[in-house]
Amino acid sequence: MFGPSNLPYPQDLHIHTIFSDKDSSVVPEQTPELVARIAHAQVIGISDHFEHFADKAYEEYVARVRSLDMFVGTEIDGAASVDFATSLAFDYYIYHCRNIAADYRGIERLLATGRPVIIAHPNALDTDLDRVPETCLVEINNRYVWHCDWMAFYGPHVDRFGFVISSDAHQPNWLSQSVARRAAEELGIQEKCIVEVLTHV
Ligand SMILES: [Zn+2]
Ligand SMILES: [Zn+2]
Repeated sequence: MFGPSNLPYPQDLHIHTIFSDKDSSVVPEQTPELVARIAHAQVIGISDHFEHFADKAYEEYVARVRSLDMFVGTEIDGAASVDFATSLAFDYYIYHCRNIAADYRGIERLLATGRPVIIAHPNALDTDLDRVPETCLVEINNRYVWHCDWMAFYGPHVDRFGFVISSDAHQPNWLSQSVARRAAEELGIQEKCIVEVLTHV
């Protein structure tokens, strides 16, 4: 599915931009255009917080992300937002499922759209993966996975789910060295390898 490419990562579907305007971790430079320009992954999806933009900027969001050839996702904070979210079109949903019955029922309503449902950083929200339908995708999230014993938390579930691996980037540097490498490439800079430098000392 992921073709040969010189891009560092196969996929990243969990990226925030300035449309997450109530999230203080997002910096003003984190525009959809900059994410597309950095182009750190073969498959890129933007997933801004549904509650931050849907009521006022949904159409602009979709048009802008789509025009940059990225997938249009959104990150939904629990069951309260599900009805509104399913009334709008998205390529996929990223879902905060806390360990409460209403949030597990919200999964079913999202799945009924036929769109992929990604369970966001379950280790950070105490999501009980035994209560999550296996038709969901489960996220390994760069921002949160290392807060837990990931072998103990995810290990028992690896055969039951499909998984996606995400940056959850709120700032360009959360996309890793990709920013510096894109800048160097645009500048026409060839990086010096320290091993080669040392052989000439
Ligand atoms: Zn989240
Ligand atoms: Zn997020």
